[in-house]
Amino acid sequence: MKILVVNAGSSSLKYQLIDMATEKVLAKGGCERIGIDGSILTAKGNGKEKIYKKDMPSHKVAIQLVLAALQDGEIAVIKSMDEIDAVGHRVVASGEYFTKTTLVTPDVLKTLEEKTFELAPLHNPAAVTGLRACIEVMPKTPMALVFDTSFHATMPEKAYLYGINYDDYKKYGVRKYGFHGTSHKYVSGEAAKFLGKRPEELKIVTCHLGNGSSITAVDGGKCVDTTMGFTPLAGVLMGTRSGDIDASAVEFLAKKKGMSHSEAVNYLNKDCGVKGISGVSSDFRDLEKGVANGNDRCRLALEMFSYQTKKFVGAFAAAMGGLDCIVFTAGIGENTPCVRAGVCEGLEFLGVKINEKVNALRCEGIRDISAENSKVKVLIIPTNEELVIARETAELL
Ligand code: AMP
Repeated sequence: MKILVVNAGSSSLKYQLIDMATEKVLAKGGCERIGIDGSILTAKGNGKEKIYKKDMPSHKVAIQLVLAALQDGEIAVIKSMDEIDAVGHRVVASGEYFTKTTLVTPDVLKTLEEKTFELAPLHNPAAVTGLRACIEVMPKTPMALVFDTSFHATMPEKAYLYGINYDDYKKYGVRKYGFHGTSHKYVSGEAAKFLGKRPEELKIVTCHLGNGSSITAVDGGKCVDTTMGFTPLAGVLMGTRSGDIDASAVEFLAKKKGMSHSEAVNYLNKDCGVKGISGVSSDFRDLEKGVANGNDRCRLALEMFSYQTKKFVGAFAAAMGGLDCIVFTAGIGENTPCVRAGVCEGLEFLGVKINEKVNALRCEGIRDISAENSKVKVLIIPTNEELVIARETAELL
């Protein structure tokens, strides 16, 4: 079975074609600048790369080009579109309308459009544009929606509710949904495999630390709490997002800066986080360089990020009544030793101890960075969200 995984943005479309028998990526690539001058498709297959500079006025044209590239000359991996058994679409927000991977039907599409767009106005409309384009070009191929929120659907009410009027929660769906679910699901499953245990036996805190960051408590293979909330703005401070902040401070700041409420939220999403603290960059590689050059605000930004992440590790260990394993994943989790060390430092009382030398090594694949006498295993696991989307789509079929 071959599954095409599609992740559509407003002007981009990333894809992977995965052979489910081997879980091998047959082809991958992405279209950029869809609907803008200078659109480009970068396509990889058979270990080779080809670049197509072609006009892509719409997502429909983009997906047509992707399908052509999958069958094109030396990068061809299929002979006909019919070899694609299904398409799995990444969708950021589901609200309470979908709690698991869902096959697309006209009713599903209607609910997605009418109910979820306001929950993720930047992401969900873009995903539907990509979905509609695929339906047009591949009308006979089953389409699945795989939500970033699904893995978090197992959170108990006490974890996902905000302390607001319960009737307002019911009426408007304002609650914690969580994000990066496919990543948390993948790395927690891989951690259990690596440790030779069943997921049911483990209490894991997964730290997805990238440009957007979220931390999740996975108890017995199920999410019981997570840091992101109604939107991906909540939790730890991130590249450009503030993370948790007192709601009254938002109104205060908006008044002082002469911003409307939506401008203030935009500011909290785009101009804050480690970028705002350091005044240098949202990229952790730049922050590390800043620290090496004696920049105190870069040091502060890194300290705040590690400290806030550590606090959630501790909170989630308390929520689960124990901790067997911490997993680090995504751009920062996989590549920034000083953050991993900063998060684990001071958690010895929970039984967490890392091997500093192994932590400092830069290499690929799954790594166990815990010290020999650490009660809690500390692992680095490269994430693979596309594989989860493909697996969920295949299971649904
Ligand atoms: P992500 O959103 O998962 O792509 O993560 C992006 C973040 O990871 C950025 O802040 C990068 O600075 C950080 N990062 C650190 N080292 C690397 C690396 N070697 N490759 C990619 N991202 C890195």
